[in-house]
Amino acid sequence: MAKALLLLSGGLDSTLAGRILLKMGIEVEAVNFTSPFCRCTPKTFGCSAARQAADRMGIPVRVLVKGEDYLDLVKHPKHGRGSGINPCIDCRIFTFRKAAELMKEMGADFVATGEVLGQRPMSQQRRSLELIERQSGLEGLIVRPLSAQLLEPSLPEQNGLIDRSQLLAIQGRSRQEQFSLAKEYEVFDYPCPAGGCLLTDAEFAARMRELFEREPACTLADARLLSTGRHFRLPDGMRAVVGRDEKENEILESVARAGDWLLQPEETTGPTVLLRHPVTTTGATDNDNALPAPSPESLRLGAELLARYAQANGTVTDVHLRACGQEPARPFANEAFADHAIEIQPDGSMIVRSVQPAQPQAIEPFRIGKRAAAAQPA
Ligand code: SF4
Repeated sequence: MAKALLLLSGGLDSTLAGRILLKMGIEVEAVNFTSPFCRCTPKTFGCSAARQAADRMGIPVRVLVKGEDYLDLVKHPKHGRGSGINPCIDCRIFTFRKAAELMKEMGADFVATGEVLGQRPMSQQRRSLELIERQSGLEGLIVRPLSAQLLEPSLPEQNGLIDRSQLLAIQGRSRQEQFSLAKEYEVFDYPCPAGGCLLTDAEFAARMRELFEREPACTLADARLLSTGRHFRLPDGMRAVVGRDEKENEILESVARAGDWLLQPEETTGPTVLLRHPVTTTGATDNDNALPAPSPESLRLGAELLARYAQANGTVTDVHLRACGQEPARPFANEAFADHAIEIQPDGSMIVRSVQPAQPQAIEPFRIGKRAAAAQPA
């Protein structure tokens, strides 16, 4: 019996590809690739939609997490980007190379996907599909059941391992044929829509471009932070991240590391603000005692940002400042808040009284990535 390794996102197309192969009597195992830029997946447990789709098909699925090598590719794509910062062709080559390794390891005969010819403007045009196939080392070994009859016969079709006449000839962006097939195969629940990639989002792309430009040695952790909160690049180069709700405030507190400053409202409701030094060319900042202090201007602006987005917007706010993993109560805070009362706490943190909210015109020049319409996956 032929054996296929199915790239399963949990979306309709890859689920249908799996159903078609199973109906043909082919043994199918699935792999789901997760990335820190996937909007619809819990990052460490894989895409729950993919797991559900695999369960319903009765096939095993394993989850592979894209790591720092994937970020390198996003920084330096060889084949260009889509309308966001999405390097779709390089991303597909990366994914198929990993799939090729897995295919060999598990003894599968070919890799199958739910790709549809012409559905995406960048990565699913005929020439792109051919390029991706060549560069991933899977020439002739990728079967796309939804569009196979419009493509060159794959090796498994040529050698009679699978019956080409049972494969389909769908192309283009309309999904009507897939919706009809969904009814035929009773696939009603496919919660992971196409376009769930943050790299295609215009605002996220703007933040990412700024990060690559200002912090070329950034890591996945830095890139992941871009999806949380409002972001500002302060006068001394530090990043300020302002939580937009309780969940984001908790995230900011949990990711704070040595060298960061955490600002929180004292006895009122409001955002957590994380101040972080840019990643240097030497990389991580953990336990780096040589980090400079924030400039008084940046520290003050961070506190004023907090006051601006606090619930009692328009009124003064008391702000609690903590320097993470550093000597407490550095004297330069006195310079930043020379006109305020400062109370030093037993743990060395500080409360600055009556911070005025920042005015919009004072903060807009520092904002990174204004909200804009989402771009389309390529
Ligand atoms: S949209 Fe492009 S960059 Fe994002 S996961 Fe899909 S192929 Fe990769």
